[in-house]
Amino acid sequence: MTAAHVAARLHARPTGPGRWIARCPAHDDRSPSLSIREGREGRVVIHCFGGCASAAVLAAAGISWRDMLGAPPTAEQRRAAAERRRAEERRWLRALARAVIVIGRRHPGHAGLARLRDEVARDLRARGGAE
Ligand SMILES: [Zn+2]
Repeated sequence: MTAAHVAARLHARPTGPGRWIARCPAHDDRSPSLSIREGREGRVVIHCFGGCASAAVLAAAGISWRDMLGAPPTAEQRRAAAERRRAEERRWLRALARAVIVIGRRHPGHAGLARLRDEVARDLRARGGAE
Protein backbone atom coordinates (compact mmCIF):
# COMPACT_ATOMS: atom_id res chain seq x y z
CA MET A 1 0.00 0.00 0.00
CA THR A 2 1.46 3.35 -1.03
CA ALA A 3 1.22 6.69 0.76
CA ALA A 4 -1.26 7.77 -1.95
CA HIS A 5 -3.47 4.74 -1.12
CA VAL A 6 -3.40 5.56 2.59
CA ALA A 7 -4.14 9.22 1.81
CA ALA A 8 -7.11 8.24 -0.37
CA ARG A 9 -8.45 5.90 2.34
CA LEU A 10 -8.33 8.75 4.88
CA HIS A 11 -9.72 11.41 2.49
CA ALA A 12 -6.52 13.38 2.96
CA ARG A 13 -5.73 16.52 1.07
CA PRO A 14 -2.36 17.01 -0.66
CA THR A 15 0.02 19.54 0.85
CA GLY A 16 2.95 18.97 -1.53
CA PRO A 17 4.56 16.30 -3.69
CA GLY A 18 4.17 12.96 -1.86
CA ARG A 19 2.60 14.67 1.18
CA TRP A 20 -0.91 14.81 2.57
CA ILE A 21 -2.78 15.89 5.67
CA ALA A 22 -5.88 14.16 7.02
CA ARG A 23 -8.10 14.06 10.05
CA CYS A 24 -6.72 11.38 12.33
CA PRO A 25 -9.17 8.46 12.64
CA ALA A 26 -7.73 7.45 16.02
CA HIS A 27 -8.75 10.52 18.01
CA ASP A 28 -11.46 13.17 17.87
CA ASP A 29 -9.68 15.30 15.29
CA ARG A 30 -11.43 18.52 14.34
CA SER A 31 -8.62 20.10 12.35
CA PRO A 32 -6.47 17.69 10.32
CA SER A 33 -3.45 16.63 12.34
CA LEU A 34 -2.38 13.43 10.60
CA SER A 35 0.57 13.83 8.28
CA ILE A 36 1.01 11.17 5.57
CA ARG A 37 4.04 11.13 3.33
CA GLU A 38 6.14 8.96 1.09
CA GLY A 39 9.28 7.77 2.85
CA ARG A 40 12.36 6.11 1.43
CA GLU A 41 12.00 2.96 -0.70
CA GLY A 42 8.24 3.36 -1.07
CA ARG A 43 7.58 3.37 2.67
CA VAL A 44 4.60 5.21 4.08
CA VAL A 45 5.33 7.61 6.93
CA ILE A 46 2.39 8.66 9.08
CA HIS A 47 2.53 10.99 12.03
CA CYS A 48 -0.31 12.19 14.21
CA PHE A 49 0.45 15.57 15.77
CA GLY A 50 -2.20 14.69 18.38
CA GLY A 51 0.12 11.98 19.66
CA CYS A 52 -1.57 8.81 18.40
CA ALA A 53 0.65 5.80 17.78
CA SER A 54 0.94 4.74 14.14
CA ALA A 55 -0.51 1.32 14.98
CA ALA A 56 -3.60 2.97 16.50
CA VAL A 57 -4.04 5.20 13.43
CA LEU A 58 -3.78 2.23 11.06
CA ALA A 59 -6.16 0.12 13.16
CA ALA A 60 -8.72 2.94 13.26
CA ALA A 61 -8.40 3.32 9.47
CA GLY A 62 -8.91 -0.43 8.98
CA ILE A 63 -5.44 -0.87 7.50
CA SER A 64 -3.42 -3.89 8.60
CA TRP A 65 0.36 -4.15 8.71
CA ARG A 66 0.02 -6.72 5.96
CA ASP A 67 -1.77 -4.11 3.81
CA MET A 68 1.09 -1.72 4.51
CA LEU A 69 3.95 -4.12 3.91
CA GLY A 70 2.44 -6.33 1.23
CA ALA A 71 2.26 -10.10 1.41
CA PRO A 72 5.36 -11.84 2.76
CA PRO A 73 7.65 -13.28 0.06
CA THR A 74 6.82 -16.75 -1.19
CA ALA A 75 9.25 -19.66 -0.72
CA GLU A 76 10.13 -19.32 -4.43
CA GLN A 77 10.90 -15.58 -4.03
CA ARG A 78 13.06 -16.31 -0.95
CA ARG A 79 14.97 -19.03 -2.87
CA ALA A 80 15.52 -16.67 -5.82
CA ALA A 81 16.79 -13.92 -3.48
CA ALA A 82 19.17 -16.36 -1.74
CA GLU A 83 20.48 -17.55 -5.13
CA ARG A 84 21.07 -13.92 -6.21
CA ARG A 85 23.08 -13.35 -3.01
CA ARG A 86 25.17 -16.51 -3.60
CA ALA A 87 25.81 -15.52 -7.23
CA GLU A 88 26.96 -12.09 -6.04
CA GLU A 89 29.30 -13.73 -3.48
CA ARG A 90 30.70 -16.00 -6.21
CA ARG A 91 31.39 -12.98 -8.45
CA TRP A 92 33.32 -11.29 -5.64
CA LEU A 93 35.23 -14.47 -4.78
CA ARG A 94 36.19 -15.01 -8.45
CA ALA A 95 37.46 -11.42 -8.62
CA LEU A 96 39.39 -11.99 -5.38
CA ALA A 97 40.77 -15.31 -6.68
CA ARG A 98 41.98 -13.58 -9.88
CA ALA A 99 43.70 -10.87 -7.83
CA VAL A 100 45.37 -13.45 -5.53
CA ILE A 101 46.58 -15.45 -8.56
CA VAL A 102 48.04 -12.35 -10.24
CA ILE A 103 49.81 -11.27 -7.04
CA GLY A 104 50.93 -14.89 -6.41
CA ARG A 105 52.69 -14.99 -9.79
CA ARG A 106 54.82 -12.04 -8.75
CA HIS A 107 55.70 -13.68 -5.43
CA PRO A 108 56.08 -17.38 -6.32
CA GLY A 109 57.51 -18.56 -2.98
CA HIS A 110 55.00 -16.73 -0.76
CA ALA A 111 53.32 -19.32 1.50
CA GLY A 112 50.68 -16.88 2.81
CA LEU A 113 49.49 -16.07 -0.70
CA ALA A 114 49.31 -19.78 -1.60
CA ARG A 115 47.17 -20.41 1.51
CA LEU A 116 44.92 -17.45 0.66
CA ARG A 117 44.50 -18.77 -2.91
CA ASP A 118 43.49 -22.20 -1.55
CA GLU A 119 41.04 -20.63 0.92
CA VAL A 120 39.37 -18.55 -1.78
CA ALA A 121 39.14 -21.64 -4.04
CA ARG A 122 37.50 -23.59 -1.17
CA ASP A 123 35.00 -20.78 -0.47
CA LEU A 124 34.13 -20.63 -4.14
CA ARG A 125 33.57 -24.40 -4.35
CA ALA A 126 31.41 -24.28 -1.20
CA ARG A 127 29.15 -21.74 -2.96
CA GLY A 128 28.80 -23.91 -6.03
CA GLY A 129 31.09 -21.84 -8.24
CA ALA A 130 33.75 -23.16 -10.60
CA GLU A 131 37.28 -21.91 -10.06
ZN1 LIG B 1 -4.43 11.02 16.26
